[in-house]
This record gives sequence, structure tokens and C-alpha cells, in this order.
Amino acid sequence: MTKIITIDGPAASGKGTLARALAEHLGYFYLDTGAIYRLVALSLLDREISPEDDEDTAVMVADTLATSFTTDMMNNSKLRSDSVGQMASRVAALPKVRDALQNLQRTLANNPPNGGAGSVLDGRDCGTVICPDATNKFFITANTEVRARRRYEELMSRGIEADYRQVLAEMDQRDKRDREREASPLKPASDAIVIDTSDLDAAQALHTVLENLN
Ligand code: C5P
Repeated sequence: MTKIITIDGPAASGKGTLARALAEHLGYFYLDTGAIYRLVALSLLDREISPEDDEDTAVMVADTLATSFTTDMMNNSKLRSDSVGQMASRVAALPKVRDALQNLQRTLANNPPNGGAGSVLDGRDCGTVICPDATNKFFITANTEVRARRRYEELMSRGIEADYRQVLAEMDQRDKRDREREASPLKPASDAIVIDTSDLDAAQALHTVLENLN
């Protein structure tokens, strides 16, 4: 049986860095499920389509992605912008889009493309909906200012001009939408271990997760 570790949490909580480091440490496949929603978002932005006004096209884009997906697609640097993140959160609120992408995520989780013994999934609903029987589940949090500061510094380090207050406001808006949507809202699974990374660096967060693995 493939071991599956889910790491869910809000934006810039440190879950991506943690999930990638954990996967590398264990030799597991790392699946950034947010990148899948970002791929749908990027395609809609390119076509200037609003998902709320044209849900059918959003679902069609998600269906097409589900059948044509390759892991290389997740390396597209255009996926990382905040405008794509905002659009991803809008498409992710549509239940039919989520349905179209579920099997893809489960198949990848259960059949690690790197041939590893397991997968680490990072997202919002990995422990609650995608892999409810995961071997280990974590929910990563950090206070809002710490998360906004991390996102701001990440943008600046990539040479992207950013305004801290705007980053904070956009992050709040995205988290609110992710928490309050009806379809698979952001929340910890009842059996997830919650880790607050506000006062932890990346190495300490990894250490805490490793100590809690079954
Ligand atoms: O994790 P990331 O910031 O890349 O995710 C972008 C957006 O995709 C999130 O704000 C969320 O709305 C959506 N998402 C989701 N379920 C997941 C992963 C991401 O709804 N499992």
C-alpha cells in the first residue's frame, strides 16, 4: 500500500516548503494540488474567461487537464503569481471543477510517478476529501501577519514588486473564500495533527512532522 501524507493549510502557512522537504527526505512523490487549480486558473486568465460567468468552460478546462496532465506542467513559473492564486481560489469554489480534478489527484497520490513508496500531498482538502484514509494528516497554520510577511518576502526575493498591506488584504480575501465555500472548504480533518509554524523555521517544522509520523 502506498503511504500517503496530507499537509493542508491556508496560503503561505509554510505547507508547501514543508511538504516538498518531507517528500525529499522520505523519497516520496510531492504533489502540489494547488498547482492543479492554478493550471485551470491560468488557462482561464489566458482566455479572459470569468469562471462565475462561464462555469461550463471552467469545467471543460478542468476535464481536459485531468486527461492531459503531466507532472512537468507544474513547473510553469507563471503559475506562482498572486493573480493566478486569486483566480485559482475562484475556480476552486466551483463543485464541478473540483469533481473533475479529484480522480487525477487520487490517482497520482496512489501511484507515485517517481516510483517512490509514498506521496506527500499539499493543499486544502487533501486530508478531508482527496485522501481521507491517508497514513498521516497534518494541518499547518501560522498567524496572518507572519503568513503575509512570508509571501511578501517571497515575492520580493523573486524580483516582484509588492506592497505588504496589499499582500495581506489579498491573502485574507483568498483564505476567507477558501474557508467559507460550500465545496470542500479549508479545514483540518478531525484526525489531523495541527502545527502552528508562526515561530518555527523550515527545519523545525520538518522536525516536528517527522516526530509525528506513524
Ligand atoms: O496552495 P495554492 O496557494 O497554490 O492554491 C491555490 C488555490 O487553489 C487555493 O487558494 C485554493 O482555493 C485552491 N486549492 C483548493 N484545494 C486544494 C489546493 C488548492 O481548493 N487541494
